Amino acid sequence: PSRQEVSYFGAGPAPLPTSVVEAGANAFVNFNDAGLGLGEISHRSPTANKILNDAKANLSALLDIPDNYEILFMQAGGSGEFSAVVQNLVPVWIERRRRKAEADVKKAQPDAEQAEVDELVFQRLQKEIDEELKVDYLVTGSWSLKASQEASRLIGSKYVNVALDARKANNGKFGTIPAEDSWSLTPTKKEAGKGSAFVYFCDNETVDGVEFQQFPKSLEAQGQDAEDERLVVADMSSNFISRKVDVSKYAVIFGGAQKNIGVTGITIAIVRKDLLPPHTATPPPALLHRLNIGGLPGPVVLDYATIAKNNSLYNTLPIFNLWIAGQVMADLMAEFSAQKVSGQEEVANKKAQLIYGALDKFPRVYQVVPDASVRSRMNICFRVNGGDDAKEKEFIAGAEKRLLQGLKGHRSVGGMRASNYNAVPLENVQKLVQYLEDFATAQ
Ligand code: PLP
Repeated sequence: PSRQEVSYFGAGPAPLPTSVVEAGANAFVNFNDAGLGLGEISHRSPTANKILNDAKANLSALLDIPDNYEILFMQAGGSGEFSAVVQNLVPVWIERRRRKAEADVKKAQPDAEQAEVDELVFQRLQKEIDEELKVDYLVTGSWSLKASQEASRLIGSKYVNVALDARKANNGKFGTIPAEDSWSLTPTKKEAGKGSAFVYFCDNETVDGVEFQQFPKSLEAQGQDAEDERLVVADMSSNFISRKVDVSKYAVIFGGAQKNIGVTGITIAIVRKDLLPPHTATPPPALLHRLNIGGLPGPVVLDYATIAKNNSLYNTLPIFNLWIAGQVMADLMAEFSAQKVSGQEEVANKKAQLIYGALDKFPRVYQVVPDASVRSRMNICFRVNGGDDAKEKEFIAGAEKRLLQGLKGHRSVGGMRASNYNAVPLENVQKLVQYLEDFATAQ
């Protein structure tokens, strides 16, 4: 079949806009008629620099990213960021504590030699880390679970506070986001003299079809005091640039490109600049080694400050992949101009409503997996006839006949999953809706 005939609802990698794929074929062979393809040119060439800076500018415009944020293009996928956030933000916590400890020690013992100060600071830090260091995770699906497990692997589970495990309120299964007053976030420093290094959540759980409907109230900044704010980290891999986001509420937003933005190989991290101190201002690696917290300091390619300092070109960046991402963003800007990402949000909402509308019309045949209050606009998970194996096979076979592809759910959830990313055209959603209706009425 041709591209036009296939409707693909895969969860990632996912469909790209046909216009980008077509231009990409050319760009891969002979970019701008210069005789070379984008897989061949140097990442340090003026062409590559322009692609990088254009992509940054378009992303910044689309999401209204404030000036005090850095846009980083990285390569280790969403999973690499699971490690990177721990590697980068725990040292910020340690450094804040180290400075405070040093100031206190110097005040108490103004005549002490630096070596003596260092030793006292070290001892205090060791105690504070042992007793107070925490990273908070809201576990609402498979990906935030994985991220929390990576934090445990890197720094040890005693430091990881699972402030919410949504399975506990739902018979061991994901599919709801329990009320905020049931979460057990580490109190901020001002509240109780503690304060976690960061609070992590996954904005859209790709496997489970669960999406935060808004920014959680309890994560709002408490005040201007650095010790009183929560550093919020969000994984937006599967709902990036699909709705308006107040970037200023986050310390770090990250996402792999292969769902809403482009092809695999580029990961975007949007990081608040004050969390990117020059290396001299982070705890010295020797101190981190001596403090003996596993995973710190980690690989240099995951170090935000290094990537920022080198304008994302610390090492070889895949420029073809970057160009694809940039092109997707440029097209969104061209299509929605003044509306920016809100324009795309309207389209995404409309498409999701069409699919959920069709499913809800036939409750005997289709059952949406997650609770109605947390339904994802991007990954629509449902069962056919309560998960009847033969019926679900029949559903998939019928869909395949109409060239509706990629509808099988993740193996851990089963059933169906229709991924409704930005590049899925409205016509394809309409074809799916027609099939949902035809299949249901034939039952
Ligand atoms: N986070 C989310 C929400 C995802 O959907 C995925 C992949 O599907 C990941 C993280 C992991 O991404 P990667 O495979 O790029 O490491």
